[in-house]
Amino acid sequence: MSVKHSLVIPCFNEEGNVEIFLNCAKEAMKGYTDSYELIFVNDGSRDKTGEVLKRLFNENKDVKIKIINFSRNFGKEAAMYAGLNASCGEYTTIIDADMQQRPEVAVQMGRILDENPDYDMVAAFQEKRKDGKLLSKIKTSFYSVINKVSEVHFIEDASDFRTMRKNVVKSIIELTEYHRFSKGIFSWIGYNVCSIPYEVMERESGETKWSVKKLIKYALDGIMAYTDLPLKLPLYFGIGTMVLDVLLFVALMIAQFGFDANCTAGFLACLMVFLFSIISVFIGIAGTYIGKIHTQVKNRPVYIAKEILTYEENL
Ligand code: UDP
Ligand code: MG
Repeated sequence: MSVKHSLVIPCFNEEGNVEIFLNCAKEAMKGYTDSYELIFVNDGSRDKTGEVLKRLFNENKDVKIKIINFSRNFGKEAAMYAGLNASCGEYTTIIDADMQQRPEVAVQMGRILDENPDYDMVAAFQEKRKDGKLLSKIKTSFYSVINKVSEVHFIEDASDFRTMRKNVVKSIIELTEYHRFSKGIFSWIGYNVCSIPYEVMERESGETKWSVKKLIKYALDGIMAYTDLPLKLPLYFGIGTMVLDVLLFVALMIAQFGFDANCTAGFLACLMVFLFSIISVFIGIAGTYIGKIHTQVKNRPVYIAKEILTYEENL
């Protein structure tokens, strides 16, 4: 049985949103296609999301619903990956459960793909940021840094909210890396992408799962996944300090009798502490990369699904 459009919906503590989402998605799909599936990935929610989803699954026999229940919270990246693995639509959209991204826009993206065989993917970007000034500034700086050092180009304000053809989904699931950074993956795979603006709505209920700490970790993961420049910094630094050292040596030789001896010793001590701390930072950077290699070589799965419900059981 072929499916025209799959919606992948990562859910973490979204008990107040999933039913509203389901009803809105049903409404949006009316007049577009009957052949669609909703893949809810319950990412280890600690509220009643799992129970609500099961009830919706039992009550909506007319809709193709898949539910993937994770054994714990693995993060949105893992949830998206699981959803893409389970999707079988001609088109697949990744969309949040909290109604900040409207299912109508997913239909609009589907229509763009219908009308433009040359496009492989339609990506929605936020027209207006809802973040505060400081966060907005931090995000802009992040994109400017990552675009300077990375091998792929990151589009600012691009979101995970996008609709892709089957071949694009296949390419993404072929990338089995453990530390997933979807913004990088979407850029890295290439393809012909059409960007459309969308307005981010207010969350229906619950709160955002992003804390400043999580955002910093995510940004560092992104930088480390797409550039090895930090690993090369010690080399450039080493060359720089070597040159500096020679100059300093010459300067001290010339002025050896002109300087106060205590002052010179203090200056040298400061310099040594400074150099030592820089070396520690570099060891730390190398350690972080090694840590990531360590997790990857263990070859653990990106997620563990403890239960999967599919509409075939419901038909
Ligand atoms: N999400 C998830 N696992 C997580 C965190 C978030 O599946 O560990 C889901 C969440 O339920 C929502 C989407 O990812 O559907 C986006 O999360 P959120 O709304 O917190 O992010 P924001 O919109 O604030 O960027
Ligand atoms: Mg949200």
